[in-house]
Amino acid sequence: MSTGPSPIRVLLIEDVPEDAELVTRAMRKAKLDVVTERVDGEDELEEALMRFRPHVILSDYNMPEFGGTRALAIARARCPDVPFIFVSGTIGEERAIDALHQGAVDYVLKDSPARLVPAILRALEDVKQRESRRKAEQQLYQSEQRFSSVADATQEWIWEKDLSGIYTFCNHSATAILGYDPEELVGNSWVDYIEDADQPRARHEWERAVAEKRGWRNVVLRLRHKQGQARSLESTAVPLLDAQGTVAGFRGTSRDITERIQQQEKITRLSRIHAVSSGISGMIVRVIDRPQLFRDACHIAVQQGGFPLAWVGQLDSESAEGKAVAAAGIASDQIEAIPLTTRPVLPYSGWPASRALRDNRPAINNNIASDAAMAQWLEARGARGFRSCAALPLFAKGEAEAVLVLYADQREFFDRQEMDLLEQIAADLSFALDYLAKRDKLSYVSYQDPLTGLANRELFFDRLTQVLGALGDERGRLGVVVIDLQRFRLINDTLGRGAGDALLKEFAARLRKTFDDATTLSRIGGDRFAVSVGELNSAALAHLIETRVAASLTEPFVLGETPMQVGCKIGVALFPDDGHDAETLFRNAEAALQRAKDTTDTYAFYSPEMNAKVAARLHLEDRLRNALRQKQFVLHYQPKVDLKTRRIHGLEALIRWRHPERGIVAPCEFISVLEETGMIIDVGRWVIEQAVADIGHWRALRREVPRVAVNVSHMQVRQRDFVTSVLAAVGRNEGAVLDLDLEVTESLMLEDREASVAKIAALRTRGMQIYMDDFGTGYSNLSQIAALPLDSLKIDGLFIARMGESAGTTAIVSAIINLAKALEIGVVAEGVETEEQADLLASLGCDNAQGYLFGRPMPADETARLLDEVRA
Ligand code: C2E
Ligand code: MG
Ligand code: MG
Repeated sequence: MSTGPSPIRVLLIEDVPEDAELVTRAMRKAKLDVVTERVDGEDELEEALMRFRPHVILSDYNMPEFGGTRALAIARARCPDVPFIFVSGTIGEERAIDALHQGAVDYVLKDSPARLVPAILRALEDVKQRESRRKAEQQLYQSEQRFSSVADATQEWIWEKDLSGIYTFCNHSATAILGYDPEELVGNSWVDYIEDADQPRARHEWERAVAEKRGWRNVVLRLRHKQGQARSLESTAVPLLDAQGTVAGFRGTSRDITERIQQQEKITRLSRIHAVSSGISGMIVRVIDRPQLFRDACHIAVQQGGFPLAWVGQLDSESAEGKAVAAAGIASDQIEAIPLTTRPVLPYSGWPASRALRDNRPAINNNIASDAAMAQWLEARGARGFRSCAALPLFAKGEAEAVLVLYADQREFFDRQEMDLLEQIAADLSFALDYLAKRDKLSYVSYQDPLTGLANRELFFDRLTQVLGALGDERGRLGVVVIDLQRFRLINDTLGRGAGDALLKEFAARLRKTFDDATTLSRIGGDRFAVSVGELNSAALAHLIETRVAASLTEPFVLGETPMQVGCKIGVALFPDDGHDAETLFRNAEAALQRAKDTTDTYAFYSPEMNAKVAARLHLEDRLRNALRQKQFVLHYQPKVDLKTRRIHGLEALIRWRHPERGIVAPCEFISVLEETGMIIDVGRWVIEQAVADIGHWRALRREVPRVAVNVSHMQVRQRDFVTSVLAAVGRNEGAVLDLDLEVTESLMLEDREASVAKIAALRTRGMQIYMDDFGTGYSNLSQIAALPLDSLKIDGLFIARMGESAGTTAIVSAIINLAKALEIGVVAEGVETEEQADLLASLGCDNAQGYLFGRPMPADETARLLDEVRA
């Protein structure tokens, strides 16, 4: 039997001391460790209960002073948990039963003392069990209390579902998130609340979780609020297993991230429109005519802007009616039917396109469903999924001549910020219209080469002149490329003209593929072709020629029976360096071609310097290799400041190349070469080691050193031993580890994302802070970025520079700041050069900044002096 209290305090209610003695002896004889006390009056009993605090009470039944029943009543009232046993000589069966009813736990006849001890022990055991049960109940109660107060206090929705997806528990946050009370949800299946579009994914996740007996983390699904709107919830869950280890359901939490997602979508939306904007400004410099302008604008809007449908309508000023003349995207085959008018009384007069042309300003419908006529018209043509629409008038010579119409698949897509950007786009297109209108007056005939279908020599010059005109003096660069097939004469002579023609045709087709967006691609005679390529520097052009033109020749040409390898020679002249007009450029390209023919090189640039430059570029690699060996790299440091206090709270290490002849060379000239050749791995390791060494040095000079961030290339992160190599580099100087931060870029997310994220996370847990550099320039998936282990976003300097000029850019900056806030991470504005920018950023809620306004990148010793001044 288990051990009870020791000693056991036994209270005897007994008027005969000898009887009490007998009972005590019986207990001792059975080896019970007892202390006893005897009472025989009511007051005495009350007093003893308080003071003696018995574990068990043994009571006579018949006493002169007061009866056993009374004693029992008192004991029950005072100490209900102490077992009460009658020990009596005279108790009859009926009385005994009565006594048990009133709460005595047992009765023992005085003449059978053998029963006494077992009765006591049993009673004590009962007490013990009752107590432990009570304790367990209390603990359960407390933990339930704790859980429910946690569940009530948190904003997260805590839930449990059974195996069929039925909610079995929900805390009160469900109401704040979905509008339903917990009681409304419990008993219903979660599937009923999932938005239709997310149903398949939800089922898939669920089935996978059940099959694999595991939960899920950070799964985002859209659920319907009681009021109908969609909320994005991010949920994490663990499986509930029953005693046999089978999944009985899931327990998890969901949080409402709708606002965060909206912020992300806003940035994506604005970035997309930005992409359209730069696509269009690139396009209009080489556009040939109106139809192409409209066609390209629609394509860019659909392909780069992600709009499901874009079309351009043109008005006939006589009839006041118009029609669509170009379109791209779904339902673009229906454009013939799209109605357009500037008259006010027709059924479609109120549609945005008509309104925009009538009122000469942009018109929006942010909820197409609300315009029954328009919705039905679209529906009847199978054009579903369009929710908003914006129409932008395009002006030529001050008149609205056409309208660009964009459809979006979300309601309320076009707000003020989107419209600001779109109006800039419309202004660009209007500029192009104006330009084309002026140029249309110079009528020209289209000259085509009948054999290859390419433009001929005349048209080449005409188009090149147009392209150069559109380029203007300030804008961009351009290369004129002349290509000559080798051995053509020989092929013509030996295999016959038919084979020669076939070769020219096939080569033309391959060139057309290579230069699919060049309008100037021409056959300028015999076996000679020409094309102009825009916006490339000499190195990029050399690269293009080597990879693409050469690649178009690697496949042998099949002429008659024999496959045949054909080579080419190429001459290049560059605008503006090698000439300003079409004639000069072409002449110089031909001269370059001649030089190429005289050498073993495939191509040559016209200007000797250019050739030298390209050659130099090819040697850069070599010299960079030496640079590391000869310790020509140095680190400069640029302060990061708190925008409010202007106090320095960090430094960014930026690499420089101290070139023996050229002096300090900026990283933009060589980082990409380092990356292409893989040298970035060694140089990157040096950067970290040098930064750690500088920190140690400053420390030794007793400077207070702020955190220092180094830039790491995605190539470095992708190395299998990235984490250990960073830790090793850092480990040489104990103590520096916690002060070193990393700046990574979005390109990290392109390949091997999960592995890279894990490595970054591992370093972050060691105390490094992680910055996302140049944020906003890559069009990476923002929800992936949100999942990265980050401490801060750095807004790319390009945005900061354009902020004052364009409301759209300011909107992007503001959205990025808000996104950072929503993700609860810091935000640093890069490239801040003016007080106006600093003020605007501060007013948008940006905390930190970096830029020439606060300090240029400077060598380590100067940085040490700066740290001194700051302290002083
Ligand atoms: P980043 O990391 O975004 O660095 C900011 C760049 O902006 C630096 O150019 C800096 O000198 C410049 N900058 C700072 N304030 C201003 C300003 O107010 N106005 C203007 N216009 N520019 C400002 P830098 O030093 O030429 O570096 C260019 C890029 O090269 C860096 O961009 C970074 O991506 C890369 N880089 C630099 N050092 C390293 C390195 O050690 N490793 C790797 N992988 N990349 C590096
Ligand atoms: Mg950086
Ligand atoms: Mg940056």
